[in-house]
Amino acid sequence: MSGIVRDPEKVPVETGRLECVHCHRQHPITEIEELGDPLTCIHCGEVGLVPRRHDRTADKYPGKLGERFATIPHVLFDPENGLDLTSAELSVIIALESFRWRSGDLVYPSQERIASMTRLSRRTVQRTLDALAADGLITVWNERHGSYPRNVYDLAPLWHCLAAGARRPLPLP
Ligand SMILES: [Zn+2]
Repeated sequence: MSGIVRDPEKVPVETGRLECVHCHRQHPITEIEELGDPLTCIHCGEVGLVPRRHDRTADKYPGKLGERFATIPHVLFDPENGLDLTSAELSVIIALESFRWRSGDLVYPSQERIASMTRLSRRTVQRTLDALAADGLITVWNERHGSYPRNVYDLAPLWHCLAAGARRPLPLP
């Protein structure tokens, strides 16, 4: 994807930003209305802009960094998202989420693993998981895996809640 585009209708769908080849400013695709027709840089008046894709993980995290990563929707960090998460809850959610790859995945890290990732004590991790489950944001159950018991965590309620406009679900009875 390269080349100068002048017609707003011809901007490819996967475009994240429009770059000016003259002043190199980047205009977010969300502001395309302000760039007019033909597309014009609002900073320097250059006509015609170059569509750029959203950054790919490989661009953002070169080499080894991009091999393993976790994606977290920004709404989780929004203090207005209605969840009133404590810093411990936020840390534990990020740790749990880092094990999940696809929609519907369940995760089963040990509490030791979560404690080591979040630098929280085992006891705080336990308490935090209990609080998240009591608030209905995660579902937790125990199952046997071979000859070992393990906890299984489902984060779907949390993401459903945030996708639906973020109201903390009612505590379970
Ligand atoms: Zn410009």
